[in-house]
Formats: sequence, C-alpha cells, structure tokens
Amino acid sequence: MITVNDICSLLEEFAPLSYQETYDNAGLILGSRDVELTGVLVCLDVTETVIDEAIGLGYNMIVSHHPLIFKGIKTITGKNHIENCLVKAIKNDIILYAGHTNVDSVRNGVNGKIAEKLGLQHCRILVPGASIDSNGEEYGLGMVGDLPFAESENDFLVRVKKTFHCQRLRYSEPTGKLVRKVAVCGGSGSEFIEQAKAVGADVFLTGEARFHDFFTKGQNILMIDAGHYETEQFTKEVFFDLISKKIPTFAIRISEAEINPVYYL
Ligand SMILES: [Zn+2]
Repeated sequence: MITVNDICSLLEEFAPLSYQETYDNAGLILGSRDVELTGVLVCLDVTETVIDEAIGLGYNMIVSHHPLIFKGIKTITGKNHIENCLVKAIKNDIILYAGHTNVDSVRNGVNGKIAEKLGLQHCRILVPGASIDSNGEEYGLGMVGDLPFAESENDFLVRVKKTFHCQRLRYSEPTGKLVRKVAVCGGSGSEFIEQAKAVGADVFLTGEARFHDFFTKGQNILMIDAGHYETEQFTKEVFFDLISKKIPTFAIRISEAEINPVYYL
C-alpha cells in the first residue's frame, strides 16, 4: 500500500520544503497524508482538464510544479480556475501536492534538467543558497555549465528552440561570440542575469524576461527568453523519474492533457 505520506516523503527527501522561497507554498496542498493512493498524475499546473484526466485514469493524486494555492482564500464561489479546481478536486477525493521553488533549488531539479537537455557539463548552482544541505550538497537557484563544444549563437538559439519545442524565441542582440558557458534559470528567472554575467556566462536562458532585460548591448551576454512553460516542461520528467525509480510498480503518468496556456500567433 502506497500512501500520500510515502509520496510526500520521497519528494521531500529529494527537495526539502525548507529550500523553498519565502513567498512559496510548496508541499501538500490538499488532502490527508494517510490516504491510500491509486496513482499519481504529474503536471506543471493543476487545471480542471488535468483533474479530469486523473479521474479518468482512476488516480487520486496530482503532483504539480506550481502550487494551485499561493495566497489565502476567503471564499470559494467559482470566481476563478483556482476555486473551480479546488471544488472539483475535493468532490473527487483528489490529493494535490506541489514541488515548486524547492525543486528549482536542488541540483537535479528544474534547472539540472534544463542543463541536461542542453548537454551542459561541469554544472554548478548559479545563485547558491545560504548553506550546504545535510547531504553536503549545494543548493540554490539557476545553474551554469559549459557546452562540450563551442557553438555559434545562431546554432545555439536554433537548438534551444528545438529542444524546448518553442513556437517563438525572444532574445537580445547577438554578441558575435561563440557560446561556451551557459547560465539557465527556468520560469521567471530574469532577475538572475546579473549573476549570469558575474560568472562569465555567454548566454543566460530563462523562461520569462521583461522588455528592459533585453538591453544587453556591450555586456557580452546573450539573453534568451524561451517561455515559462517551455523551460519548465521537463520538470514533469523530474517528478516522474523520481517516483517511478523508487516505486517501480506504482501507477504514475505524466499528464497528456496539459498544454501550454500561452498561445502564439
Ligand atoms: Zn514556473
């Protein structure tokens, strides 16, 4: 018998909740720890479509990257998708769990996966946390690593677009240099461009950049915004691999119904 608590323990051993940012709400969001599980569906965001998918599969737990609840909720009256999802999950006995900035902060989490997809080597944390964790591992946000071979900026951009299945890529003025050192931060990581410059990265790849982040002329760095969903989509593989390796016989799937909520023309 696998319980909610078993899955929580497994996920938190990998990415302790104490690593999450102060504004975050990672961990068990809805449900009791002693409930017996019938299966886990993994996604980036909890939506009604994803809950329907779990119900259809007969699975009673959803593990997402983004927490459905961030702030206090005073009424549940169907005002928005958060409330609708909560009602649907409660009515159908679906457990909700989120691994968010704590999963951003571990070496093999969100950014480790991005680094792996890009083939980066000698990876280290871009913005290290305050201390070393109990396993002696460094944790923190973003990652920086080296490409095995130098690549032109254009070739790197094309590879990013393909790797992350981007419909469009936003980037700053090319510097003309070859790309060797790459800093990454999935999701909304544009604030870490300063750290990327400080470690001498040729490229900073993130999921959400503001207009002014693209003014990089003369700063020797290529800024790339590949999209929030696009850069974080492989986090689903992180959860899936972790659980399926530890409990090989357990029913777990990556959501097939989930889509990028951002449309492009
Ligand atoms: Zn995100």
